Amino acid sequence: MALPIPCDWLEVPQGHPFGLQTLPYGSFSSLHHPARRRVGVRIGDRVLDLTGAAERLLPGRAEDFRDGNLDRFLAAGDAAWAQVRAGLTTWLSQDQFRSALEELLTPADGVTMHLPFTVADYVDFYASEQHATNVGKIFRPAAAEPLAPNWRHLPVGYHGRAGTIVVSGTPVRRPCGQARPAGSDWPVFGPSSRLDFEVEVGFVVGTESVMGERVPAARFAEHVFGACLVNDWSARDIQGWESMPLGPFLGKSFATTISPWVVPLAALSHARVMSPSLRTDLAPYLADSGDWGLDIDLEVAINGHVVARPPYRTQYWNPAQMLAHLTVNGASLRVGDLFASGTVSGQERDQFGSLIELTWGGESPVDTGDGSGRTWLEDGDEVVITATASGPQGSRVGFGDARGQVLPAWPPEAGLP
Ligand code: MN
Repeated sequence: MALPIPCDWLEVPQGHPFGLQTLPYGSFSSLHHPARRRVGVRIGDRVLDLTGAAERLLPGRAEDFRDGNLDRFLAAGDAAWAQVRAGLTTWLSQDQFRSALEELLTPADGVTMHLPFTVADYVDFYASEQHATNVGKIFRPAAAEPLAPNWRHLPVGYHGRAGTIVVSGTPVRRPCGQARPAGSDWPVFGPSSRLDFEVEVGFVVGTESVMGERVPAARFAEHVFGACLVNDWSARDIQGWESMPLGPFLGKSFATTISPWVVPLAALSHARVMSPSLRTDLAPYLADSGDWGLDIDLEVAINGHVVARPPYRTQYWNPAQMLAHLTVNGASLRVGDLFASGTVSGQERDQFGSLIELTWGGESPVDTGDGSGRTWLEDGDEVVITATASGPQGSRVGFGDARGQVLPAWPPEAGLP
Protein backbone atom coordinates (compact mmCIF):
# COMPACT_ATOMS: atom_id res chain seq x y z
CA MET A 1 0.00 0.00 0.00
CA ALA A 2 1.38 3.40 -0.94
CA LEU A 3 2.17 5.78 1.86
CA PRO A 4 -0.51 8.51 1.92
CA ILE A 5 0.81 12.02 1.37
CA PRO A 6 -0.20 14.91 3.64
CA CYS A 7 -2.17 17.71 1.99
CA ASP A 8 -0.04 20.47 0.47
CA TRP A 9 -1.54 23.08 2.76
CA LEU A 10 -0.20 21.21 5.81
CA GLU A 11 3.34 21.89 4.55
CA VAL A 12 4.83 18.70 5.99
CA PRO A 13 8.20 18.19 4.28
CA GLN A 14 8.78 14.80 2.67
CA GLY A 15 10.72 12.55 5.02
CA HIS A 16 9.47 14.30 8.16
CA PRO A 17 9.46 11.82 11.09
CA PHE A 18 5.94 13.02 11.95
CA GLY A 19 4.41 12.47 8.51
CA LEU A 20 1.27 10.39 7.97
CA GLN A 21 3.25 7.20 8.66
CA THR A 22 3.44 8.12 12.36
CA LEU A 23 0.43 10.05 13.78
CA PRO A 24 1.28 9.71 17.48
CA TYR A 25 -1.15 10.73 20.24
CA GLY A 26 -0.59 12.95 23.26
CA SER A 27 -2.21 15.39 25.68
CA PHE A 28 -1.58 19.11 25.30
CA SER A 29 -2.74 22.53 26.38
CA SER A 30 -2.10 25.78 24.60
CA LEU A 31 -0.41 28.73 26.27
CA HIS A 32 -3.69 30.66 26.03
CA HIS A 33 -5.75 27.96 27.77
CA PRO A 34 -3.34 26.22 30.16
CA ALA A 35 -6.12 24.50 32.12
CA ARG A 36 -7.88 23.15 29.04
CA ARG A 37 -6.29 19.85 28.06
CA ARG A 38 -6.95 18.29 24.67
CA VAL A 39 -5.91 15.09 22.95
CA GLY A 40 -3.44 16.00 20.21
CA VAL A 41 -1.99 14.24 17.19
CA ARG A 42 1.40 15.32 15.93
CA ILE A 43 1.59 16.07 12.19
CA GLY A 44 4.79 17.67 10.94
CA ASP A 45 5.68 20.58 13.19
CA ARG A 46 2.10 21.04 14.35
CA VAL A 47 -0.38 19.47 16.73
CA LEU A 48 -3.93 18.66 15.61
CA ASP A 49 -6.55 19.10 18.32
CA LEU A 50 -8.17 15.66 18.05
CA THR A 51 -10.69 16.46 20.78
CA GLY A 52 -12.03 19.16 18.47
CA ALA A 53 -11.57 17.23 15.22
CA ALA A 54 -13.52 14.21 16.49
CA GLU A 55 -16.44 16.42 17.51
CA ARG A 56 -16.64 17.69 13.93
CA LEU A 57 -15.71 14.67 11.86
CA LEU A 58 -16.19 11.55 13.99
CA PRO A 59 -18.88 12.39 16.57
CA GLY A 60 -19.42 8.71 17.42
CA ARG A 61 -15.95 8.62 18.98
CA ALA A 62 -15.80 12.20 20.33
CA GLU A 63 -16.43 10.97 23.89
CA ASP A 64 -13.10 9.11 23.82
CA PHE A 65 -11.18 12.39 23.66
CA ARG A 66 -13.29 14.70 25.79
CA ASP A 67 -11.17 14.30 28.96
CA GLY A 68 -8.09 15.64 27.17
CA ASN A 69 -6.03 12.49 27.73
CA LEU A 70 -5.89 9.03 26.16
CA ASP A 71 -7.56 7.06 28.97
CA ARG A 72 -10.96 6.51 27.33
CA PHE A 73 -9.44 5.95 23.91
CA LEU A 74 -7.07 3.30 25.32
CA ALA A 75 -10.03 1.50 26.88
CA ALA A 76 -12.04 1.68 23.64
CA GLY A 77 -9.98 -1.14 22.09
CA ASP A 78 -8.27 -2.01 18.85
CA ALA A 79 -11.26 -1.49 16.52
CA ALA A 80 -11.58 2.11 17.77
CA TRP A 81 -7.81 2.63 17.44
CA ALA A 82 -7.95 1.49 13.80
CA GLN A 83 -11.05 3.59 13.06
CA VAL A 84 -9.50 6.81 14.39
CA ARG A 85 -6.17 6.24 12.65
CA ALA A 86 -7.98 5.63 9.35
CA GLY A 87 -9.99 8.80 9.90
CA LEU A 88 -6.91 10.88 10.64
CA THR A 89 -5.13 9.53 7.56
CA THR A 90 -8.09 10.48 5.35
CA TRP A 91 -8.59 13.93 6.88
CA LEU A 92 -4.92 14.88 6.63
CA SER A 93 -4.45 13.62 3.06
CA GLN A 94 -7.61 15.04 1.42
CA ASP A 95 -8.06 18.76 0.79
CA GLN A 96 -11.80 18.65 1.42
CA PHE A 97 -11.18 18.56 5.20
CA ARG A 98 -9.09 21.74 5.25
CA SER A 99 -11.84 24.00 6.50
CA ALA A 100 -12.73 21.62 9.33
CA LEU A 101 -9.14 21.13 10.48
CA GLU A 102 -7.18 24.27 9.77
CA GLU A 103 -8.11 26.17 12.91
CA LEU A 104 -7.50 23.07 15.04
CA LEU A 105 -3.77 23.04 14.22
CA THR A 106 -1.22 24.69 16.52
CA PRO A 107 2.57 24.93 16.19
CA ALA A 108 4.13 22.15 18.31
CA ASP A 109 6.57 24.56 19.91
CA GLY A 110 3.66 26.64 21.20
CA VAL A 111 1.95 23.98 23.32
CA THR A 112 2.58 22.39 26.70
CA MET A 113 2.60 18.60 26.65
CA HIS A 114 1.21 16.61 29.58
CA LEU A 115 1.33 12.98 30.67
CA PRO A 116 -0.60 11.36 27.80
CA PHE A 117 -2.53 8.84 29.94
CA THR A 118 -3.07 7.97 33.58
CA VAL A 119 -0.39 5.41 34.32
CA ALA A 120 -1.91 2.40 36.08
CA ASP A 121 0.67 -0.29 36.92
CA TYR A 122 4.28 0.01 35.86
CA VAL A 123 6.66 -2.87 35.13
CA ASP A 124 10.26 -2.58 34.03
CA PHE A 125 12.01 -5.49 32.31
CA TYR A 126 15.68 -6.35 31.75
CA ALA A 127 15.39 -7.56 28.18
CA SER A 128 18.70 -6.61 26.57
CA GLU A 129 21.25 -9.42 26.60
CA GLN A 130 24.11 -6.99 26.15
CA HIS A 131 22.93 -4.80 29.05
CA ALA A 132 22.42 -7.77 31.39
CA THR A 133 25.83 -9.14 30.35
CA ASN A 134 27.55 -5.79 30.93
CA VAL A 135 25.96 -5.35 34.35
CA GLY A 136 26.86 -8.93 35.28
CA LYS A 137 30.50 -8.34 34.32
CA ILE A 138 30.67 -5.00 36.18
CA PHE A 139 29.24 -6.41 39.44
CA ARG A 140 30.64 -9.95 39.27
CA PRO A 141 33.92 -9.64 37.34
CA ALA A 142 35.17 -13.00 38.61
CA ALA A 143 32.11 -14.98 37.55
CA ALA A 144 32.48 -17.31 34.56
CA GLU A 145 28.96 -16.55 33.30
CA PRO A 146 27.72 -12.95 33.56
CA LEU A 147 24.04 -13.87 33.03
CA ALA A 148 21.96 -15.39 35.82
CA PRO A 149 20.75 -18.96 35.05
CA ASN A 150 17.14 -17.80 34.57
CA TRP A 151 17.95 -15.01 32.13
CA ARG A 152 17.48 -16.85 28.81
CA HIS A 153 14.34 -18.65 30.06
CA LEU A 154 12.14 -15.71 31.07
CA PRO A 155 12.08 -11.93 30.72
CA VAL A 156 13.30 -10.73 34.13
CA GLY A 157 11.38 -7.71 35.47
CA TYR A 158 10.13 -5.88 38.55
CA HIS A 159 7.10 -3.78 39.46
CA GLY A 160 7.97 -0.10 39.64
CA ARG A 161 6.27 3.06 40.86
CA ALA A 162 3.55 4.35 38.51
CA GLY A 163 2.89 7.54 40.48
CA THR A 164 6.32 9.07 39.80
CA ILE A 165 6.21 8.66 36.03
CA VAL A 166 6.51 12.16 34.58
CA VAL A 167 6.24 13.62 31.12
CA SER A 168 9.27 14.79 29.18
CA GLY A 169 10.49 18.21 30.29
CA THR A 170 9.73 17.69 33.97
CA PRO A 171 12.89 18.41 36.02
CA VAL A 172 14.19 15.51 38.12
CA ARG A 173 15.53 16.22 41.58
CA ARG A 174 18.59 14.27 42.67
CA PRO A 175 17.36 11.79 45.28
CA CYS A 176 18.72 11.36 48.78
CA GLY A 177 19.07 7.96 50.35
CA GLN A 178 21.29 5.47 52.05
CA ALA A 179 24.41 4.23 50.35
CA ARG A 180 27.56 2.47 51.47
CA PRO A 181 30.71 4.19 50.20
CA ALA A 182 33.37 1.99 48.62
CA GLY A 183 35.68 0.51 51.25
CA SER A 184 33.32 1.31 54.12
CA ASP A 185 31.26 -1.17 56.10
CA TRP A 186 28.76 1.46 57.31
CA PRO A 187 26.15 3.35 55.22
CA VAL A 188 25.77 7.12 54.95
CA PHE A 189 22.64 9.14 54.17
CA GLY A 190 22.78 11.94 51.61
CA PRO A 191 22.33 12.94 47.97
CA SER A 192 23.05 10.22 45.46
CA SER A 193 26.52 10.61 43.95
CA ARG A 194 25.95 8.00 41.23
CA LEU A 195 22.94 9.30 39.33
CA ASP A 196 22.39 7.56 35.99
CA PHE A 197 19.94 7.32 33.09
CA GLU A 198 18.58 4.22 31.35
CA VAL A 199 17.51 4.40 27.69
CA GLU A 200 14.35 2.30 27.28
CA VAL A 201 11.25 1.78 25.15
CA GLY A 202 7.88 1.62 26.94
CA PHE A 203 4.66 -0.14 25.88
CA VAL A 204 1.24 1.28 26.74
CA VAL A 205 -1.58 -1.13 27.56
CA GLY A 206 -4.99 -0.21 26.23
CA THR A 207 -7.55 -2.84 27.08
CA GLU A 208 -7.66 -4.61 30.41
CA SER A 209 -7.74 -8.35 31.05
CA VAL A 210 -9.49 -10.54 33.59
CA MET A 211 -7.62 -11.58 36.74
CA GLY A 212 -6.85 -15.28 36.58
CA GLU A 213 -6.69 -15.37 32.78
CA ARG A 214 -3.46 -15.30 30.82
CA VAL A 215 -2.97 -12.94 27.91
CA PRO A 216 -1.21 -14.94 25.19
CA ALA A 217 1.52 -13.27 23.17
CA ALA A 218 -0.65 -13.65 20.07
CA ARG A 219 -3.09 -11.12 21.54
CA PHE A 220 -0.40 -8.46 21.98
CA ALA A 221 -1.88 -6.05 19.42
CA GLU A 222 -5.36 -6.35 20.94
CA HIS A 223 -4.16 -5.20 24.34
CA VAL A 224 -1.17 -2.96 23.65
CA PHE A 225 -1.90 0.39 22.06
CA GLY A 226 1.54 1.77 21.34
CA ALA A 227 5.05 2.66 22.39
CA CYS A 228 6.90 5.62 23.90
CA LEU A 229 10.40 6.47 25.11
CA VAL A 230 11.39 5.93 28.72
CA ASN A 231 14.25 7.20 30.87
CA ASP A 232 14.44 5.01 33.97
CA TRP A 233 16.52 7.38 36.12
CA SER A 234 18.64 5.32 38.51
CA ALA A 235 20.66 6.16 41.64
CA ARG A 236 23.29 3.41 41.47
CA ASP A 237 24.66 3.96 44.97
CA ILE A 238 21.21 3.77 46.60
CA GLN A 239 20.30 0.81 44.37
CA GLY A 240 23.49 -1.08 45.23
CA TRP A 241 23.03 -0.83 49.00
CA GLU A 242 19.29 -1.51 49.15
CA SER A 243 19.20 -4.42 46.67
CA MET A 244 20.42 -7.04 49.12
CA PRO A 245 18.66 -9.25 48.20
CA LEU A 246 15.47 -7.71 46.79
CA GLY A 247 15.29 -5.77 43.57
CA PRO A 248 15.02 -2.11 42.52
CA PHE A 249 13.28 0.13 45.06
CA LEU A 250 14.20 3.70 46.07
CA GLY A 251 17.14 3.80 43.67
CA LYS A 252 14.57 3.87 40.85
CA SER A 253 11.22 5.06 42.20
CA PHE A 254 12.01 8.79 42.55
CA ALA A 255 11.30 9.54 38.86
CA THR A 256 10.76 7.91 35.46
CA THR A 257 10.44 10.14 32.38
CA ILE A 258 8.34 9.22 29.33
CA SER A 259 8.01 10.94 25.97
CA PRO A 260 4.77 12.90 25.44
CA TRP A 261 3.85 11.10 22.20
CA VAL A 262 2.55 7.54 22.15
CA VAL A 263 3.31 5.97 18.76
CA PRO A 264 0.54 3.48 17.91
CA LEU A 265 1.55 -0.10 17.07
CA ALA A 266 -0.04 0.44 13.66
CA ALA A 267 2.77 2.90 12.87
CA LEU A 268 5.40 0.27 13.73
CA SER A 269 4.27 -2.50 11.36
CA HIS A 270 7.26 -1.90 9.06
CA ALA A 271 9.69 -1.98 11.98
CA ARG A 272 8.87 -5.53 13.09
CA VAL A 273 11.79 -7.97 13.26
CA MET A 274 12.36 -11.41 14.77
CA SER A 275 13.90 -11.39 18.23
CA PRO A 276 16.91 -13.57 19.06
CA SER A 277 15.02 -15.33 21.86
CA LEU A 278 12.66 -17.25 19.53
CA ARG A 279 14.20 -20.67 20.15
CA THR A 280 12.37 -23.96 19.94
CA ASP A 281 13.20 -24.86 23.55
CA LEU A 282 11.45 -21.85 25.12
CA ALA A 283 8.40 -22.33 27.33
CA PRO A 284 5.47 -22.45 24.87
CA TYR A 285 3.87 -19.23 26.15
CA LEU A 286 7.06 -17.36 25.21
CA ALA A 287 7.75 -19.23 21.97
CA ASP A 288 4.70 -18.15 19.96
CA SER A 289 5.20 -14.40 20.23
CA GLY A 290 5.67 -13.74 16.51
CA ASP A 291 7.94 -11.06 15.12
CA TRP A 292 7.41 -8.28 17.64
CA GLY A 293 11.03 -7.27 17.87
CA LEU A 294 11.23 -3.68 16.62
CA ASP A 295 13.81 -1.88 14.49
CA ILE A 296 14.11 1.34 16.50
CA ASP A 297 17.25 3.50 16.55
CA LEU A 298 17.66 5.27 19.89
CA GLU A 299 19.98 8.09 20.82
CA VAL A 300 20.86 9.67 24.18
CA ALA A 301 22.55 13.04 24.69
CA ILE A 302 23.91 14.81 27.75
CA ASN A 303 23.70 18.60 27.42
CA GLY A 304 23.25 18.29 23.66
CA HIS A 305 26.15 15.89 23.07
CA VAL A 306 25.22 12.38 21.88
CA VAL A 307 26.86 9.82 24.17
CA ALA A 308 25.28 6.61 22.82
CA ARG A 309 23.11 5.21 20.03
CA PRO A 310 21.49 2.01 21.35
CA PRO A 311 19.75 -0.20 18.75
CA TYR A 312 16.46 -1.73 19.90
CA ARG A 313 16.33 -4.39 17.16
CA THR A 314 18.76 -6.74 18.94
CA GLN A 315 16.71 -6.92 22.18
CA TYR A 316 16.54 -10.54 23.30
CA TRP A 317 12.94 -10.47 24.60
CA ASN A 318 10.24 -8.74 22.57
CA PRO A 319 7.24 -6.87 24.06
CA ALA A 320 4.73 -9.62 23.16
CA GLN A 321 6.80 -12.02 25.26
CA MET A 322 6.92 -9.46 28.07
CA LEU A 323 3.12 -9.14 27.98
CA ALA A 324 2.63 -12.92 28.00
CA HIS A 325 5.09 -13.29 30.86
CA LEU A 326 3.67 -10.58 33.08
CA THR A 327 0.20 -12.18 32.88
CA VAL A 328 1.18 -15.88 32.84
CA ASN A 329 0.44 -16.23 36.57
CA GLY A 330 -3.04 -14.72 36.14
CA ALA A 331 -2.08 -11.13 37.00
CA SER A 332 -4.48 -8.85 35.14
CA LEU A 333 -3.86 -5.83 32.94
CA ARG A 334 -5.40 -2.43 33.61
CA VAL A 335 -6.07 0.38 31.16
CA GLY A 336 -2.95 2.54 31.15
CA ASP A 337 -0.45 -0.06 32.35
CA LEU A 338 3.06 0.71 31.19
CA PHE A 339 5.78 -1.86 30.75
CA ALA A 340 9.27 -0.90 29.69
CA SER A 341 12.01 -2.87 27.96
CA GLY A 342 14.83 -2.30 30.41
CA THR A 343 18.01 -0.56 29.34
CA VAL A 344 18.68 -0.99 25.63
CA SER A 345 22.32 -1.73 24.85
CA GLY A 346 24.01 -2.85 21.64
CA GLN A 347 27.32 -4.66 21.31
CA GLU A 348 29.57 -1.65 20.76
CA ARG A 349 30.62 0.61 23.59
CA ASP A 350 28.95 3.65 21.98
CA GLN A 351 25.68 1.67 21.91
CA PHE A 352 25.40 1.19 25.69
CA GLY A 353 22.21 2.73 27.13
CA SER A 354 23.38 3.77 30.61
CA LEU A 355 26.32 5.55 32.22
CA ILE A 356 27.14 2.55 34.39
CA GLU A 357 27.97 0.69 31.18
CA LEU A 358 29.43 3.62 29.22
CA THR A 359 31.86 4.37 32.10
CA TRP A 360 32.18 0.69 33.10
CA GLY A 361 31.01 1.16 36.68
CA GLY A 362 32.39 4.69 36.93
CA GLU A 363 35.96 3.71 35.96
CA SER A 364 36.38 5.88 32.87
CA PRO A 365 34.40 9.05 32.03
CA VAL A 366 32.36 9.29 28.86
CA ASP A 367 33.16 12.17 26.49
CA THR A 368 30.61 14.98 26.63
CA GLY A 369 32.12 17.06 23.84
CA ASP A 370 33.15 19.98 26.06
CA GLY A 371 36.19 18.38 27.67
CA SER A 372 34.49 17.89 31.02
CA GLY A 373 33.36 14.26 30.62
CA ARG A 374 30.96 12.44 32.95
CA THR A 375 31.15 9.35 35.09
CA TRP A 376 27.73 10.13 36.65
CA LEU A 377 25.20 12.90 36.08
CA GLU A 378 25.85 16.30 37.62
CA ASP A 379 23.33 18.89 38.81
CA GLY A 380 22.07 20.91 35.85
CA ASP A 381 22.75 18.16 33.29
CA GLU A 382 20.00 17.64 30.77
CA VAL A 383 19.49 14.12 29.41
CA VAL A 384 17.55 13.75 26.15
CA ILE A 385 16.52 10.42 24.60
CA THR A 386 15.26 10.46 21.00
CA ALA A 387 14.38 7.71 18.53
CA THR A 388 13.04 6.84 15.12
CA ALA A 389 11.82 3.49 13.78
CA SER A 390 11.76 2.03 10.27
CA GLY A 391 8.65 3.14 8.42
CA PRO A 392 7.05 2.34 5.07
CA GLN A 393 8.94 3.13 1.86
CA GLY A 394 12.14 4.16 3.56
CA SER A 395 10.44 6.69 5.85
CA ARG A 396 11.26 7.08 9.54
CA VAL A 397 8.67 6.96 12.30
CA GLY A 398 9.44 9.63 14.91
CA PHE A 399 9.08 9.16 18.67
CA GLY A 400 9.98 12.70 19.69
CA ASP A 401 12.00 12.88 22.88
CA ALA A 402 12.11 12.13 26.58
CA ARG A 403 14.06 14.92 28.29
CA GLY A 404 14.80 15.86 31.85
CA GLN A 405 17.18 18.17 33.70
CA VAL A 406 18.79 17.20 37.00
CA LEU A 407 18.02 19.55 39.90
CA PRO A 408 20.22 19.64 43.01
CA ALA A 409 19.15 17.48 45.94
CA TRP A 410 17.23 19.00 48.80
CA PRO A 411 19.80 19.28 51.60
CA PRO A 412 19.46 16.05 53.61
CA GLU A 413 19.19 17.92 56.91
CA ALA A 414 16.38 20.14 55.60
CA GLY A 415 13.75 17.45 55.17
CA LEU A 416 11.48 17.42 52.16
CA PRO A 417 9.44 20.54 51.42
MN1 MN B 1 15.35 0.12 33.87
